[in-house]
Amino acid sequence: MGEEQQAATGQDRETEGERAPDRGAEADHAIRHLPVLDPENRAFWSGGANGQLLIARCGQCLHYIHPPRPRCHLCGSTLIDREAVSGRGRVKTFTVNRQPWLPGLKVPYILAAVELEEQQGLHVISNIVGCPAESVYIGMPVRVEFEQAEDVWIPLFHPGVEGR
Ligand SMILES: [Zn+2]
Repeated sequence: MGEEQQAATGQDRETEGERAPDRGAEADHAIRHLPVLDPENRAFWSGGANGQLLIARCGQCLHYIHPPRPRCHLCGSTLIDREAVSGRGRVKTFTVNRQPWLPGLKVPYILAAVELEEQQGLHVISNIVGCPAESVYIGMPVRVEFEQAEDVWIPLFHPGVEGR
């Protein structure tokens, strides 16, 4: 434990000049501090209880909307449903985070925008787990898994299999 803390402090200094992209920092915040559930996001953070990745979808034009919003930005409809998607996607972009932002946070970890296979541009920001950081690449197929933390099920992504 003490050793880890020392290592973390050393890394702090080394990487002080580096900055994670703004989006990355924001997403990290969203994931590592448990989200406050509201009617908009509850399905997304709770669907994992049933093994489902629930994404908001416009009931009128069928466009998927994530993060969930009360109104479809394409057609303006307020008829928004939640639909279980396949949980499969590809790494659209990612960053390797070596900064232990919180005590106990294991580094390095991968923060990625995963494009879900259901729709072009439908991105979920999360961590890639279950593989070495250096093996992650853009376009890598991934699949969702859930990690329960209190009353939320955090969707994480692990390496998937091509074509499945
Ligand atoms: Zn719509």
